[in-house]
Amino acid sequence: MTTTTPTPVAPSARAGELDRADPLAGYRDRFVGSDDPGVLAYVDGNSLGRPVRGVAERMAELVETAWGGRLIRHWDEGWFDLPLTLGDRIAASCLGAAPGQTVVGESTTVSLYKLVRTALAARPGRHEIVIDRHNFPTDRFVVEGIAAETGARIRWIDVDPAGGPTVDDLAPVLGEDTAVVVLSHVAYRSGHLADARAITELVHQHGALVLWDLCHSVGVVPIELDAWGVDLAVGCTYKYLNGGPGAPAFLYVRREMIPDARQPIQGWMGVKDSFRMGESYDPADGIRRFVSGTPPVVGMQPMQAMLDLIEEAGIDAVREKSVALTGFALELYDEVLAPLGVTLSTPRDPAQRGGHVTVDHPAFVEIVPELWRRGVIPDFRPPTGIRLGLSPLSTSFAELELAVGAVRDELVARG
Ligand SMILES: *Cc1c(COP(=O)(O)O)cnc(C)c1O
Repeated sequence: MTTTTPTPVAPSARAGELDRADPLAGYRDRFVGSDDPGVLAYVDGNSLGRPVRGVAERMAELVETAWGGRLIRHWDEGWFDLPLTLGDRIAASCLGAAPGQTVVGESTTVSLYKLVRTALAARPGRHEIVIDRHNFPTDRFVVEGIAAETGARIRWIDVDPAGGPTVDDLAPVLGEDTAVVVLSHVAYRSGHLADARAITELVHQHGALVLWDLCHSVGVVPIELDAWGVDLAVGCTYKYLNGGPGAPAFLYVRREMIPDARQPIQGWMGVKDSFRMGESYDPADGIRRFVSGTPPVVGMQPMQAMLDLIEEAGIDAVREKSVALTGFALELYDEVLAPLGVTLSTPRDPAQRGGHVTVDHPAFVEIVPELWRRGVIPDFRPPTGIRLGLSPLSTSFAELELAVGAVRDELVARG
């Protein structure tokens, strides 16, 4: 097999025109690596967002000033409340949620565990957890573990693999025994954007709770948790919030549920007065009760730089560009990939699409490593998918075109 070297290609008139007309085009330069000649196209911002310029300085400042200079005093000067203040900031700029309901702390996986258990405790006498078979593995595994541990039953639903959960999928399975419904707002594989408002309403008609996983929507799709009446939500900060590898997730609990909520990982940082070193667990009145141990302050720094950019641009403008990018991805698909036998696994209706587009072909499993060698970076999702993840502030139309062109070239080279 011959190895190819990166060869930049001039964008077509169409891609050039889209980039020139893009009011957010200037943001691309504000990301580390956007000028790296070894990376021709980064189309995996939905998996790991690029670092925002200035993050290194922010980390250095933490080390030099807050940690190195203030030492333990800085716990009182901001760190202790950071899970809540940062949660409120994500809530305001991306979640449509009022303060006091969002907290940043553990991974999405652990946050899911806490909230599914919280939901079961809040619906005593109901035994069923509803989840779809195409949900992200960790969501399914957490639910399976909780079922084994508590005796709850899982009601699996089948959804269109190139789509996602709909009101019609859920209506027949909800009932008096449903405690909680666990769904992804944007499906990690297909990119399907669920109608969260309608599904939440339906779940409530049956007296059950809904837990939305926002990993693939937060920071790219406008979200209205309060207006939709959502009970519980979790979401990633290393995808479209560019928080860096392993950055801690957030969780959201609707205000009315908090006073009676019982989460399963009782820790000293979630009580009324942590430094009283009390004898028994006395949970804080507010969302702080969802904090367990000492918060990962270091990991909470980089995402703040991305929140600066999202607040500056506005989530609606981010969504507008996102729809334009995924729309261009579909145009390119129709033009150059469909004739080569590639299938589309993402909804065509922009109202049902999140920030990424997935295409399938049996050769993709071999092609993706070759693309990575060429500096064209999408990701592969089994059994045969390439995901084009289009992070609106850091991805150009020309970059997307180049990525699709590279996929075409690899397919053509294989005959
Ligand atoms: C990325 C992602 C996760 C990741 O969970 P971690 O605990 O951060 O590994 C979970 N759920 C969905 C839907 C995701 O897209």
